[in-house]
Amino acid sequence: MKPTVVKGFNVSFSRGKCLLNPSNVTVEAYKPGGFKKGIVEALALSFPPSKATYFRDWNAVTIKAFNRLIGVYGSGKITFCASGNEEVEKILDWVKSVVENASAEIVDKGAPRIEDVESWSRLTPLDLYRLLPKTNCKECSEDTCMALAAKVLSGEKLLKDCKPLSKPENRKILGEFRRRLGDRALKALGWE
Ligand code: SF4
Repeated sequence: MKPTVVKGFNVSFSRGKCLLNPSNVTVEAYKPGGFKKGIVEALALSFPPSKATYFRDWNAVTIKAFNRLIGVYGSGKITFCASGNEEVEKILDWVKSVVENASAEIVDKGAPRIEDVESWSRLTPLDLYRLLPKTNCKECSEDTCMALAAKVLSGEKLLKDCKPLSKPENRKILGEFRRRLGDRALKALGWE
């Protein structure tokens, strides 16, 4: 397929590199001029750690979405596999919208520190469990706080599913969450 412009990106296609579905095409899209500084880090902090992997050396993040991996590079490159033009447009629309949200976050809160992104990537269910009320009350429909912690990190459930966290008596616990993880991370875990 010839290079073309889709949704404002310069897009080229190649065949034979999509391991999960060899009939798909590999898409390489470029945003002319690249992404502004901090976008890759802000994107990495916008998703639970199991959904986004940050690569400091490549200035890139891979995000699990639409049942595939989407790579976003600070240089402006975006890579993913797609079945056809409709899917390419849908995914590029989505990338545009998450990049716009990340950009707004940077305007609002500044670019994230790389150290914060790296410690976010290392967050484990046990780390999250330690911050939960640890009463195993089941109000979140999980048998234990540990089970909710694992599901929140995998993106299957939201932190706000832990209703006791909203109760006034647990304000201190929520404060500790904010202090340890920051507002961005709380949002990525589904608090807001
Ligand atoms: S609702 Fe919160 S405190 Fe209760 S079991 Fe779930 S995570 Fe634990």
